[in-house]
Amino acid sequence: MDTDIIVSIATCTCGNGALGIIRTSGKGSIELINKFVNINLLERKDHTINVCNFLDENKNILDEVLVLLFFDGHSYTKEESVEISCHNSIYILESIIKILIKNGARMATNGEYTRRAYLNGRFDLIQAESVADLIASRNKSAHDIAINQMKGELSNEINKIKEEIIDIGSQIETSIEFTEEDIETDDKEKLIEKINSVEDKINKMLSSFSKGEAIKKGLPIAIIGKPNVGKSSLLNALLNENRVIVSPIAGTTRDAIDVEIKIGNINCRFIDTAGLRNDSKDVIENIGIEITRKTINKASLILFIIDINMTIDEYKDELDIIKASNKDYLVIVNKIDLNESYKKENEKYLYISAKNNTGIDQIKEYIKEKYKIKEDESIINLRHFEIFTKVINNIENIKKCLKNNSPEEIIMVEINNILNEFKTLNNKNSSEEILDNIFSKFCIGK
Ligand code: GDP
Repeated sequence: MDTDIIVSIATCTCGNGALGIIRTSGKGSIELINKFVNINLLERKDHTINVCNFLDENKNILDEVLVLLFFDGHSYTKEESVEISCHNSIYILESIIKILIKNGARMATNGEYTRRAYLNGRFDLIQAESVADLIASRNKSAHDIAINQMKGELSNEINKIKEEIIDIGSQIETSIEFTEEDIETDDKEKLIEKINSVEDKINKMLSSFSKGEAIKKGLPIAIIGKPNVGKSSLLNALLNENRVIVSPIAGTTRDAIDVEIKIGNINCRFIDTAGLRNDSKDVIENIGIEITRKTINKASLILFIIDINMTIDEYKDELDIIKASNKDYLVIVNKIDLNESYKKENEKYLYISAKNNTGIDQIKEYIKEKYKIKEDESIINLRHFEIFTKVINNIENIKKCLKNNSPEEIIMVEINNILNEFKTLNNKNSSEEILDNIFSKFCIGK
C-alpha cells in the first residue's frame, strides 16, 4: 500500500463559495506543511485548528489560513493528515498545491482518501462505496440510501446471506465426506427450502436496483399512447404549466421532449413522444414511432394513455408491446369528462381527465408509493447488481443439480463460485483491479 503524502483540493473549484479546503494524507504531512506556515505546528495537539499565514517559498504571505491537524490513526484515512482551509481563490489553492508537490507530496488519485480509509480498516468495501453516493445525493431518499449503506446495513444483509450459503455448502460437504458415517445432514427438501430462501432474498435485492437508480439519478418516465389521447395535456397537467404544444391534430408532438419535475423525493424525467402507431404512412410520424420504441427502452416507468372512448381492440397491440418490454407500466384512461357514465374496465387502471385536472394527484401518489424505500429494504448499486445476477445463475444450477441427483461435488463447485462472487462483493482484501474499478468512479479529493 502507498504511504506517501497525497494532496488535493477537497472543495469545489467552480469559483463559488468563500472558502476552499486542501487536504493531505500520509506520514510527514504535518512536518511538510510546517515548513510553509509562520507558527510551529509541531508543538500543536491532535485535532486542533491553528490560525496562521501560509507562506510561499520566498516567505511571502499567500493567505491567512486555518490548519486542522489529525495525528496518525485519528483522521478519515486513519493516517496523519492535514486540512488547510483558505480563501477560495483558484490562484491560492493551486499555489499551495504546487508548493506541497514541489516539496514531496503528490497529487491524490480519484477516491484515494477513501481507498486508504478502506485499506486501513475504517470500513468495508460496500461502506466505502456509499461515500460517493452520499456526496452525489440530490434528495432525501438518495441520502437515506447512502447513509444506510454507510452505517453497514447493506453489508450486514449481504453477510447474512453469505452465512446462509456457507451453511448450505457445509451441509452438502458433510454429506460428501461422511456418507458412511451417521452424520445428520439436511434432507434434500430442507436444502431446497434454504436455497429458495436465499434466492428470494437476492431477488429482492436485485429488484431494489432500478428503484435505487431512479432515486439517485432521476426516474425516466415515458408517456406512451396513440395520437390525440392526451399525452401532452397530461404532461402539462403534471407540470402545471403549458410548455408542450397541445393540438387536436393527430401526431403533433413529434419530438421526444425531456422535462424534469420532482414528485415526492423522486426527480422524474418525463419524456413525451409521438404515439405508438403501427399503421402510420406518414414519414415524420414514423420517426416519432421509432423514437417511442427507443423511449420505452430508455424508460423505467411507462405511463400508457388511452382515451375513455377507445375499445380494447384499439389499444391492445400497443399494450402488448409495453408488456413485452418488461418495464413497469401504468395504464391511464383519459378524458373521463367526456363520458360521465363510464365504467371502470380494470381496477388497476387510473381514470383521469387531463383537461380538468382530475386524477393527476393519483398518478403522483402512485409514483411516490412505488418508489418509496421500505423500512427493511436494502438498495444495491450496479456493481452489486451484476454480481448478484451471476449468483442467481449459480443458485439455479444448484437447484437443477439437486433435482437431477447430480453428484455433490458438482454442487460444491457452484457453492464455491458463489462464495468467490461474495469475495469480490465485500472482501477485506479485495484485488487491486476491483479497487481500481470502484475508486476510479470517485472524484479526486474524496
Ligand atoms: P396527444 O396527441 O396524445 O399529445 O394529445 P393532446 O394532449 O395534444 O390532446 C389532444 C386533444 O385532446 C386536445 O384537443 C386536448 O385538448 C384534448 N384533451 C386532452 N385531454 C383531455 C381530457 O381529459 N378531456 C377532454 N375532453 N379533452 C382532452
